[in-house]
Amino acid sequence: MSLERIYKTEAVVLRRVPFSESDYLLTLYTPQHGKVKALAKGARKPTSRQTGHVELYSRTHLVLYRGRELHTITQAEVQDTYRIVQENLERSVYASHFVELMDQFAFENEENQPAYLLLVEALGWLCEPTVDLKLAARYYELRLLRVMGFEPSLFDCAIGSEPLEAQNQYFSPVEGGVVCPEHGEGRDLLRLSLPVLKILRHMSRYKWNVVKILNVNERNHVELERILHTYIIFLLEKRLQSVNFLKKLYQDT
Ligand SMILES: [Zn+2]
Repeated sequence: MSLERIYKTEAVVLRRVPFSESDYLLTLYTPQHGKVKALAKGARKPTSRQTGHVELYSRTHLVLYRGRELHTITQAEVQDTYRIVQENLERSVYASHFVELMDQFAFENEENQPAYLLLVEALGWLCEPTVDLKLAARYYELRLLRVMGFEPSLFDCAIGSEPLEAQNQYFSPVEGGVVCPEHGEGRDLLRLSLPVLKILRHMSRYKWNVVKILNVNERNHVELERILHTYIIFLLEKRLQSVNFLKKLYQDT
């Protein structure tokens, strides 16, 4: 990573908080620098002419100045504000979910180009006229787990490693994947039906263009969401605990 004081990057806005009367502090996601915190000076002023680059989930080309603590945006050129999403409450809720998840999984100054590309692609799916929003969200979540190194095991039992048979299974967030009935028996695991396992496998194998034509009924959607969200919450809580542990460690020494 180059440590030039001034650098150019593409970025998506993950978070925006007021910093002072006239400035915003943005959390940006970039292809080469991972998560970056940057000041958008003057962007809160009502007279500010250029504000598209501070809108949540908009994609921009930026020139940034690397300060000692914070980076400052010196130039911004908006590439896409995903207007269809901004103007539709339901779609914008999904877009907020996408950027929030990225904010929680990604690290500062850690390059992850596949993760950046996934986010940009996923925001594009939300602009498709007939998109199944829930399916897009579950697909994004599964793909995000992959690019962050947490892809659940869907073909072999997460406990015994033997290939899974075509039957109802269990899912274990702790073991990071599907567990066969034999190894899952008597444990406190989530139930995973065969149709939902098939949907998960389909999503792990194929691109969005193939996956988006799937017709997932409400019952399967509920189960799919429960599996993925329980796993995601487990991973994020584990990370939070290790962060708290490290903080405590440093405080004690
Ligand atoms: Zn097993």
